[in-house]
Amino acid sequence: MEFIAQYEAEVRLTVFLVVLSAMISAEAAWPRRARVQERGSRWPINFAFMIIASIVLRLAAPVLSVAAAMLAEERGWGLLNAVDLPVWAEVAIALVILDLALYGQHRAMHAVPVLWRIHKVHHTDLDLDATSGVRFHPVEYVLSALYKVIIVLFLGPMAAAVILFEIALNGFAVFNHANLHLPRWIDAPLRLFFVTPDMHVVHHSVTGDETNRNFGFCLTVWDRLFASYQGQPALGHRAIKIGVAGWRDPATVTFRSLMVTPFTKLRPGETYRPGETPTAKAS
Ligand SMILES: [Zn+2]
Repeated sequence: MEFIAQYEAEVRLTVFLVVLSAMISAEAAWPRRARVQERGSRWPINFAFMIIASIVLRLAAPVLSVAAAMLAEERGWGLLNAVDLPVWAEVAIALVILDLALYGQHRAMHAVPVLWRIHKVHHTDLDLDATSGVRFHPVEYVLSALYKVIIVLFLGPMAAAVILFEIALNGFAVFNHANLHLPRWIDAPLRLFFVTPDMHVVHHSVTGDETNRNFGFCLTVWDRLFASYQGQPALGHRAIKIGVAGWRDPATVTFRSLMVTPFTKLRPGETYRPGETPTAKAS
C-alpha cells in the first residue's frame, strides 16, 4: 500500500501501459468486429486527447482526489473517517461507492444536454478499441476530477483506496472498450460482476436508445440495479453501428471539430441528448 502511494504516478502509468499493450495485442489476435475506419485516422485523435489530458491535469485527476482523501483524513471529514472498520472493509466499501459515483456521473453526462455536448466526443469514435478508453474531451477530464474530489470529501476513503480505484478505472476503461472477442465461457461469468467489452459496446451503438444502456465502468451491478442493463446489441456484434448521430461521416470527425463541438451549434441529425428523435429546431 505504501509503495503504491509513494510511486502513485509511476504505478498508474505502468499499469495503464501494460493493459493498453496487452489489449492492443489481444485485439490483433482475436478481433470482435471488422474495422470501419483505418486506425491511422482514429488513433492520433485518441492519443491526442490522452496527451492533452495528461498535460492539463498532469495526471492530476487522481492526484487531486488523493489529496482530497488525505485532507479528509487529517480533518476527520467524510463517512469512512467517522467509523472504525478493518482496513480491507474500508477499502472495499470505498471502491464500490466510488464506482457507483462514476456510474451516476456517466448517467448525468447522458441526461443533461450541456454535459452530453462534452461527453459525446467520447462516443464519436466510429470503431471501438482499447484507445477509445482515453478519448475524452479535456473539459470532461476536469469535470470528472472535480466531481471525484467532492465525492471523496463526503466519503472519506483512505488515500490508498482512491489510488487503487484510479488504477482500476484506467485499466477497465481500456479493457471494456477493446475490440476483443472473449469466448462466451469467459464473458458470461465475468459479466456477473465486471463490465466486459461485449457489454460496453452496446453503450456505443447509434441504434435506438442503446447509448443509454450499460453505463457502468467496472462493476455491472449498477446497470442491473438501476435497470440500464442490456446484454447484447440489437443488431448483433457484426452489424452493430458505432458512433453518434450527426457524426457518422469519418471525414467530418476531426480532432479540431471534436475540440470545439461542446461550444458550437449542433449538427443536422444531432440531438440535445442521446436517443432522442432529432428535431428541426436543434441548434
Ligand atoms: Zn457514455
